[in-house]
Amino acid sequence: MSLFDSTIQKIETIARQLGAHPNIIEQLKYPERVIEFNIPLLMDNETVRMIPAWRSQYNSACGPYKGGIRFHESVSKDEVMALSAWMAIKTAVVGVPFGGGKGGARVSPRELSKSELERLSRGYMRKLAQSITSDTDIPAPDVNTNSMIMGWMVDEYEKVSGKRDVAIVTGKAIKDGGSEGREVATGYGGAVTIDQAAKHILKKSPKDITIAIQGFGNVGSYAAKFLFDKGYKIVSLSDHHGALAGVKELNPYAVKKCVEEKGFVAGCYCTGDVCDYSEKNRITIAEQLESNVDILIPAAMESQITNDNARRIRAKVIVELANGPINPSAEPILLKKGIIIVPDVLANTGGVAVSYYEWLQNKKNERWTEKKVLGKLERLMVKGFDVVWTEAKSKKTDLRTAAYSLAIQRIAKKIKAKPK
Ligand code: NAD
Repeated sequence: MSLFDSTIQKIETIARQLGAHPNIIEQLKYPERVIEFNIPLLMDNETVRMIPAWRSQYNSACGPYKGGIRFHESVSKDEVMALSAWMAIKTAVVGVPFGGGKGGARVSPRELSKSELERLSRGYMRKLAQSITSDTDIPAPDVNTNSMIMGWMVDEYEKVSGKRDVAIVTGKAIKDGGSEGREVATGYGGAVTIDQAAKHILKKSPKDITIAIQGFGNVGSYAAKFLFDKGYKIVSLSDHHGALAGVKELNPYAVKKCVEEKGFVAGCYCTGDVCDYSEKNRITIAEQLESNVDILIPAAMESQITNDNARRIRAKVIVELANGPINPSAEPILLKKGIIIVPDVLANTGGVAVSYYEWLQNKKNERWTEKKVLGKLERLMVKGFDVVWTEAKSKKTDLRTAAYSLAIQRIAKKIKAKPK
């Protein structure tokens, strides 16, 4: 089954259980629009490569389509459509007044020079510009896209449309109208969610709660730092080269500094301010996932927990900061073992929430401090967790089903059963 089909199957099943009108369910089964185009990319050697690209506008019942643009060699129309549906669920779970969108171009950006990357980014926006406004569809960075690329895209949009409109994308650099707090937002929001999960589920103080984090990029490293600041005991960290663990608590600030020097997490067993570069604390990524910790936080890639390793997972709680780290077929195995899963559509919404704050600031011509942004984010995430937790308890179901159920109720309320 394709990723989009399995996403829609989940949405449809829950919508039926909720008793949604069949006309509403029918509208949830398809994206409202998918824009498909090819970008003629002029390479530095003067040849042209046609790059296939898409923008999926899944649903706008709750507000403008919102979602990133990814540049990756495996991007497909199906993937972009599925991710746009996830975005609609995510924004609705935490009550951000946006819909769901996602874009992508099938290209390996690592093989492009900086000027080729700029032409690709501008070419993407040139093709999309006639189909979006800052009140209808607001892209953002995603896999392999960043604030520099967003800057090129805003510039191109303004050229094509002939008007100034920095709100057309979010995730911009501060100098281009980006928001304070955006860089740390997903990790910060994740740490707030983990705090809530620990209070409701583990009922121990942070110093007695052990945590393993897979991935030490934007999301994983900031989540590690904020959790460390809250007093949690981080016992293992990893990146794509490997993992490290030992008996002592790790200091993610020292690990981050060490990684900047040495290149990889696996060589940086830093407890306190002291780092041990020897091999003895290295473990494999598989061993890390299966380690005996209170909370496992996948913050790297999709499909890390599968039918193969689900039975060996020993964590009590899994908090999905990555998108889709647990395969749908592995989930029932984990739930049967009594493991509580805090789903991605709740746990990693900090980024899209602060994207909303960025858009609001641009629209109102305001600049908020990081303190204000993170304060608002914290309240949003606490409320988001509490509402999903209460729904799960009252319906005696898992947190993912509860989150989808809440989101679908919110979206379905705004869809007309009899569109004219
Ligand atoms: P990133 O590229 O900054 O970091 C990814 C990290 O994962 C790197 O440390 C990399 O070495 C590591 N990694 C890759 N493969 C691994 C493996 N097999 N085992 C262990 N580590 C591995 O990416 P990011 O922005 O931190 O995003 C991480 C995840 O969070 C992705 O699934 C992304 O879609 C999701 N997410 C990110 C944001 C955001 O605001 N950045 C928002 C929502 C969701």
